[in-house]
Parts: sequence; structure tokens; C-alpha cells
Amino acid sequence: RLLAAALPAALALALGASACGSAGADGDGELQIALLLPENKTARYESHDRPAFVDRVHEVCAECETLVSNADQDAAHQQAQAEAALTNGADVLVLDPVDSRSAAVIVRQAHAAGVPVVSYDRQVLGVPVDFHVTFDNEQVGALQAEVLLAAVGDTGGELVVLNGSPTDDNSALFRRGAHSVLDGAGVVVGAEVDVPDWSPDQAQEAMERALTTLGRDRVAGVYAANDGMAGGAIAAMKAAGLDPLPPVTGQDAELAAVRRILTGEQYMTVYKAVRTQARMAADVAVSLARTGEPPEGLRNSWVGDGDERVPALMLEPVAVTRETIAATVVADGFWPAEEICEGL
Ligand code: BGC
Repeated sequence: RLLAAALPAALALALGASACGSAGADGDGELQIALLLPENKTARYESHDRPAFVDRVHEVCAECETLVSNADQDAAHQQAQAEAALTNGADVLVLDPVDSRSAAVIVRQAHAAGVPVVSYDRQVLGVPVDFHVTFDNEQVGALQAEVLLAAVGDTGGELVVLNGSPTDDNSALFRRGAHSVLDGAGVVVGAEVDVPDWSPDQAQEAMERALTTLGRDRVAGVYAANDGMAGGAIAAMKAAGLDPLPPVTGQDAELAAVRRILTGEQYMTVYKAVRTQARMAADVAVSLARTGEPPEGLRNSWVGDGDERVPALMLEPVAVTRETIAATVVADGFWPAEEICEGL
């Protein structure tokens, strides 16, 4: 190792950086980058975020190893996974928290061990992390509400609003963005529910209750915060025999949702280029692992205030309706047209 350290950089590179790379905290010459994902009922994490992140880390860092875990919507499990990553010598944690508040414990533990933390997609509340990589989440909610209002028009009916998990800070941002458009627009919100755990099943049950309370003919449109919950709401309305279905929103451009938009069951989704997000987070993590600093020039925003201010990269979400699927998710290579068609 001493000899390797003395080799000129070019020679070390020729031998393979992992053989001569700078030592990580675990002293084995590798840098360990841990990605902690929140759940797997929502398709994006395993189908897009995880592979894009892992590929990018290995593309830019020969001496890096990745360690990925998924907490399956269990905050205590995520805590244990974070502790295991730290014990295994993780040099950086990239954390998409199940619970934005309780995850502060994970950040404190990491920092006590000298390990930087990148918050991924969802903020950690109560303690500053080292960098935040996300989308403009209020804009997500605003786009959903704008497209919904335009589709609902002037029917005089009422909206059902299904917000995301109350433990996810993003849910509050989506809701705030949505209400910035809905409030004062002359539309009545007949029922509004924060759906635990982003659960499609619980969204379905909430929709069943709303149909009973409001009366099935009164529902003019459904604001569902993501595609999984949109699927639940649509199932409830189909089971109740609504035909045609009122416009329903979503988020994530999941394959099932893109197909529902084509067949007319769902009105819109929000496409977030999560592969770009994952690649950017990988770049931040590699830079933090190597130098202790995030890459220059990546920050375009801040989150938090005062001493809690965190540098952030905020990407732009895009509204997708039937007319714009080709120009967005297909053009961006998120879902090839053939794959969308296969399930139709
Ligand atoms: C993410 C969404 C996702 C939801 C459920 C949110 O924090 O931004 O993309 O659908 O969590 O996992």
C-alpha cells in the first residue's frame, strides 16, 4: 500500500484505481457509498433510482463500492440499515428518508462518525445535511393542480384530494403547491385525506369513502399525489361503476400510469427525470467521499434557513398528458414506446 501510494497517479490508474486508490474510512482502499431508499411499492426506486445511481458511481469512481438498501416503508428498519452501513465503513450516506423527522437521528449518527450525508429527494428535517438533491416539489403540486383544474372545467362538482404520507416532507410541499393553485380558484374540495405510507390500497379505501360521503355523481376530479395512489383511486371508481371516470392526477410517470393515460383512465402524471437525479446524487456522493466537498457549480438552490441552510440541486418536474407522452417520457428514454405498447 505504501508503494502504491507513492506511484504516480497515471501509473496507479493503469493498475486499476481500486488497487491503488486512496484509503477510505475503513482503510481497505475502497470508498463505500451507501444509498438508503425508502420503499418499494412505488416502482421508481428499484426500476430507475437504484440502477442509475449504482451505474453512475461506478462510471465516475473506480475505487468506489456501493451498498444499497430499501427500508420497505419502515423507519426503524431504515435506521438499522443506516447503522449497518456506518458499521461497514460507509464514507457517505445518500438518504431518502422514510420519515423526514425521525431521520435526523441517522444524520446525527453519521456526522458523529465523520460521515457526510446527502438527502435524496425527501428532506431530512431538524438537522442540516451536507447536500440535498431533489425536484422543485411545490412545482410538482402546482402542475398537478393546474392540469386538473383545466380538465375539470366548470362542472360544479367537487374535488377529492389524496395527499401523500404525512411522514414524508415532500407530501407537505406537493400539497402546498397544489393548494396555491386550487385555493381561490372557485373549486370545492369535498374531501381531503393524507394517505398513510403512500399506500395505493389506503388511497383506494379513502376514495371509496369519499364516493359514499360526497355521492358518486358529485366527484368532478381527483388530485392523487402519485401514480400508485391514482391507481387505487381509479380502482375504487371503476368498482363503483363510474363511467366515464373523472380526471385523475398522478406523479412519477410509472409504466402502469403512462398506459392508463393512453387508455384514458388517468388524466395526467408528473415526469421527474429521476435517472438524472440519481446520477447527480452519485456525483455529489463521490465528490464528498473523495474530497469532503460537494462538486463545484452543481448547486442551484438552498433549502432550510440560517445555520440549517443546505446547498441543494432542484430539478424541474414536467406535466405529462396523453398529448405529451411522446415528447417527454418516450423522448427522454424513460420508457421506450414499444415497452409502453406491450402492456396495452
Ligand atoms: C417522491 C415521489 C414518490 C413518493 C412515494 C415522494 O417523496 O417524491 O416520487 O412517488 O415519495 O414514494
